[in-house]
Amino acid sequence: MSYDIAIVGGGPAGLSAAYSASKEGLKVALFEKDPSFGHNIRTSGVSWIKEMLKYEIPSDCYNPIKNFVFISPNNEIRISGKEDSACVLDVRKMYQYLASKAAAAGANLFVKSQVADISRDLMTKTSHLKVNSTISPKSIKAKLIIDASGFSSFVSRKLGYVVEWKRFGAGAEYECYCDNIDESTLTLMVGSIYSEAGYAWVFPLSKNRVRIGVGIGKPDSNVDPVEKLNKLIANRVKPLDSLGKIQPIEFHFGLIPNEGLRTRSIYEGLIMVGDVVGQANPLVLEGIRYAIEFGRLAGKVGADSIPFGCTIESLKPYEIANRKTLEKKINSALRVQERWLALSDAEWDKEIDIIKGLTIDEFLDFIKSDFTTSKMLKVALTHPKLLAKQLFNLVAKKNE
Ligand SMILES: Cc1cc2nc3c(=O)[nH]c(=O)nc-3n(C[C@H](O)[C@H](O)[C@H](O)COP(=O)(O)OP(=O)(O)OC[C@H]3O[C@@H](n4cnc5c(N)ncnc54)[C@H](O)[C@@H]3O)c2cc1C
Repeated sequence: MSYDIAIVGGGPAGLSAAYSASKEGLKVALFEKDPSFGHNIRTSGVSWIKEMLKYEIPSDCYNPIKNFVFISPNNEIRISGKEDSACVLDVRKMYQYLASKAAAAGANLFVKSQVADISRDLMTKTSHLKVNSTISPKSIKAKLIIDASGFSSFVSRKLGYVVEWKRFGAGAEYECYCDNIDESTLTLMVGSIYSEAGYAWVFPLSKNRVRIGVGIGKPDSNVDPVEKLNKLIANRVKPLDSLGKIQPIEFHFGLIPNEGLRTRSIYEGLIMVGDVVGQANPLVLEGIRYAIEFGRLAGKVGADSIPFGCTIESLKPYEIANRKTLEKKINSALRVQERWLALSDAEWDKEIDIIKGLTIDEFLDFIKSDFTTSKMLKVALTHPKLLAKQLFNLVAKKNE
């Protein structure tokens, strides 16, 4: 079977690429190895309402969040928002919404279809895919491949363009029933009782449903996030002591790259998107909105490149936007992360005080990694704490 574009992976990046490429009238096929979209959840699903509105994600796909709490071993701060700004996604519902949108635009979506092999014929400028499936055709030809296979970077590795990610975050999470939780407040916990190299979280989906998780940086720590999470819940470490009964209902596990962007996001006949290319913000493990944004761009640029043979030149607008939008942001986030990885528990107690000195807008810029040099220098100048000046100068200086 022949297609203009074959997309490997049905996460937010692949589904968004399928939507935008199909909207351009192309023949598009998407292959997802799991039995349904959002079947194996690999994310804790925090995002931002502004971006969800921009991407027309219905409001019943998320729980709005107004307030933010940070807990360290001997400190706790609360940032109260003026309005709902963040959200915790119903991940499965949202991914299935993206799938319906892609299907309505004309995409052919194949679940339970694992792409097992890929090769590229340079003479005919065609890629050949072998698919393990009882649902989709088993042998596919396509002019362009969009690799949206997530952390595994399956296609790009198979073609020899990239190697496995060396630095990454491993996260384990239970989605739980709990007796009672403030559904408009999300909580992040830092310090060694929560994570030796990372953080733990409590993300509410409703008054009685919450995601409780632990993320640990690799190779910085060899602690297993599942063991750490089980201990936190068994010992009801603060703030879990205030949730009443905690009954896990689903287990989630995922890996996220933590090295910055790959050196290239395009090759002849290939676009890499989402976690394949490292587009997530490593500071707070946030990648869903970037996966949607760059998935849509990959679909559009890919569609436009078809009449030109999907050459590097015709795919270049994607690479340019990828670097321009993300490179500085991710590099700044990596510098902050380097500082955070070196903090002792006592230093964390002081570090979270920095956040207390920020206005809500400054806090949101920081947590979303919307770092611009002028914004960060202004915060460095006006913030009362010396530690904050160090932190924000660190972000701002090297961005110049
Ligand atoms: C623990 C953890 C917590 C996170 N929390 C957040 C958060 O709160 N907010 C946020 O915005 N981001 C978060 N992220 C990051 C976010 O989940 C990712 O950045 C985002 O999912 C990337 O989307 P993607 O489409 O590139 O990849 P994925 O969502 O990983 O999708 C890739 C898809 O490809 C499929 N696939 C892989 N290989 C093949 C193959 N050979 N054939 C067919 N299908 C294949 C997989 O089954 C998968 O469905 C978190 C990540 C982790 C690990």
